Parts: sequence; structure tokens; C-alpha cells
Amino acid sequence: MKLSGQRVLVTGGAGFLGSHLCERLLDSGADVISVDNYYTGSRRNFTAILQHPHFEAMRHDITFPLYVEVDQIYNLACPASPIHYQRDPVQTTKTSVHGAINMLGLAKRTGAKILQASTSEVYGDPHVHPQTEDYWGHVNPVGIRSCYDEGKRCAETLFFDYYRQHSLPIKVVRIFNTYGPRMHPEDGRVVSTFIVQALRGEDITVYGQGEQTRSFCYVDDLVEGIIRMMETPGDWPGPVNLGNPSEISVNTLAEIIIEMTGSKSKIIRLPLPEDDPRQRCPDITLAKQNLDWAPRVELRDGLQKTIAYFDETLRVA
Ligand code: NAD
Ligand code: UDP
Repeated sequence: MKLSGQRVLVTGGAGFLGSHLCERLLDSGADVISVDNYYTGSRRNFTAILQHPHFEAMRHDITFPLYVEVDQIYNLACPASPIHYQRDPVQTTKTSVHGAINMLGLAKRTGAKILQASTSEVYGDPHVHPQTEDYWGHVNPVGIRSCYDEGKRCAETLFFDYYRQHSLPIKVVRIFNTYGPRMHPEDGRVVSTFIVQALRGEDITVYGQGEQTRSFCYVDDLVEGIIRMMETPGDWPGPVNLGNPSEISVNTLAEIIIEMTGSKSKIIRLPLPEDDPRQRCPDITLAKQNLDWAPRVELRDGLQKTIAYFDETLRVA
């Protein structure tokens, strides 16, 4: 993909996914502006690109208007882990909703194409399995996950209304659980948490019976899918699921991580958090058909790279 001369804005550029995306866009020749308020992201994630002549990092909160001139916008800003998005739930909804309004306004003024990083959480605790894009979801509007789930659902509504009402070129991707280097070590997400616990020899905290399932996509695959969606010719807006359709239980994930790290950690059981979805797995038929995309990295290969990253990070810390 050649993006020479394209001015690309990445909101949430200092986060886990955003920083990988910025790198890939720079490699493709784009001029990249990251906008981030560093709520969960960090400038450390930019170590490899901070000096890049085509990269600029701005501190800005997207709940406030932003005036820059760009050709494309990737809207990723939003805390993604339950611990982080539940810490200040009002700000989480503001980031999704006011942030979307501001970024859509920016896209409308500049004529930029804009992509929304939506989430599998729009399906809530799904009654349809695996989840297809035409499933409307099963979401609690007043629970502790609602600030994130409903905020993201409202953002999708805004994107589609700008598409219909203002003919804005939009792209909506629904991202399923993604993992890899640069996840926040304390974000409570299951892959990073289990790896850090295993490397430190601490108990591995499985919530509930551990029979709930997720499907984990390696970050490089996910970034490839996001860029393909932005670059698909025509005005197909999505939404499209991006994730890895191989589903495993939390118990199995814990066992694999213990084995791969050679850890002596023991598995302990803690109560299942409220509204924790029991099963989650994407149907990626649409992504295969329309984007010619499917994940390529096997779970164990991705985990190996992630374990190596945390091993190094914990040694330095
Ligand atoms: P992350 O927390 O690492 O990154 C989010 C970034 O947004 C951080 O750098 C944070 O500082 C920034 N941010 C938060 N609020 C902001 C605001 N008001 N203004 C400016 N910047 C702000 O999370 P991530 O895993 O990289 O997720 C990125 C996006 O992808 C999020 O929108 C998330 O909802 C979506 N997503 C991620 C996953 C996943 O598994 N990682 C799954 C589904 C959806
Ligand atoms: N989980 C767990 N132990 C942990 C952290 C998470 O058993 O220390 C479980 C959690 O209850 C959920 C799954 O792992 O069922 C994935 O959690 P995560 O927060 O990574 O993602 P999400 O629930 O948003 O898919």
C-alpha cells in the first residue's frame, strides 16, 4: 500500500493499537499526526518513530474541537480495557460520543475519509454465535460496561448519520480482542495480565469458571485489516468485523501461557465481573470477501512475541 503525500491523522496514536498503526502508515509513506491526551497511551510507544521526519505527536483531548488539515482520519482514541474505561466512565462516553462528533466535523470540513475503531462490545453478551455484522447485539444500557459499549454504539450511529446525511466517506471496523507488544502491563486485559503474572511468578487470576471464550488477534494482523478497510475502493462503509475466529476459553489461555513462560504460577479463581460476555467470536466472512483479509499469525507465535516484549519491559522496570 503506497500512501505517499497523504496526511493521516491517528487519534489515540500513543496507545497500543494506535502506535503500531502510526508505524505502518509511516512505512507506507504517509505523513502521520498522532493526537492523544496520554490517558492510557504513552510517548514510550513512539520510541521508534519520534524522530521520523514525517511524524508529529500532538497532545490533545478529542472531546474538544481540533483544527488540522488532513486527508484521512483513523479514530482510535478511547480507553479500551475495562479497568481503564471504568475509572472515569463519564469521560469514556464523552470520548466516544463528543470525540466522534468532533472528528466527524473535522472530516466534513476537510473532506477527509474517516475510520471508526468500533468494537465487538457493540454485540454485548451476544445471543448469536459467532457474531455477524447484521446482529444488533444484546447490551445492558445501565451496567458498568455501558459507558464503553453504548458510547461505541452511539459513535457508530453518528458515523452512519454523517454518511447518509452529509455523504461523508466513512469506514467502521468492529475490532475483537487484540493483543501484542505495547499492551499496557496493568490494563487488566486477559493476555497482558496472564503474561505479566506468569513472568512474575504470581497467581494467574482466572475469573469465574474460566469457561468463557474469546478469540485473540495478533496486532500486526489487525493493523493490516484496518488499513485495508480504509483503502478499499468504493464507498462501502462497513461495519466489518476484524478479529481472529479461533476461539479459546480463558482456562486454556492460562494453561498455554504458563506452559510457554515455563512459569510456576498457579491458577486461582476470582468472581466473574458483572456483564462479562460468556462467548465471543467474530464471523469474518465479510472481511474475507470485501478486504481479502484474514489473520495469519498463530496464537502461539503471537504470544511468543508478546511474552518476549513483557519479559524485556519488566526487566527494565
Ligand atoms: P489504548 O488504551 O492502548 O489506546 C487508546 C488511546 O486513546 C490511548 O493512547 C489514550 O491515551 C487515548 N485517548 C483516550 N481518550 C482520549 C481522548 N479523549 N483524547 C485523545 N486521546 C485519548 O487502547 P487500544 O487497545 O490501543 O484501543 C484503541 C482503539 O481500538 C479504541 O478505540 C478501542 O475501543 C478499540 N478497540 C481495541 C480493542 C483491543 O483489543 N485492543 C478491541 C476493540 C476495540
Ligand atoms: N479475565 C480473567 N482474568 C483476568 C482478566 C480477564 O479471567 O485477570 C477474563 C475476563 O473475565 C473475560 C476475558 O478474560 O472473560 C477477557 O477479558 P478482557 O478484559 O481481556 O477483555 P473483554 O472482556 O473486554 O473481552
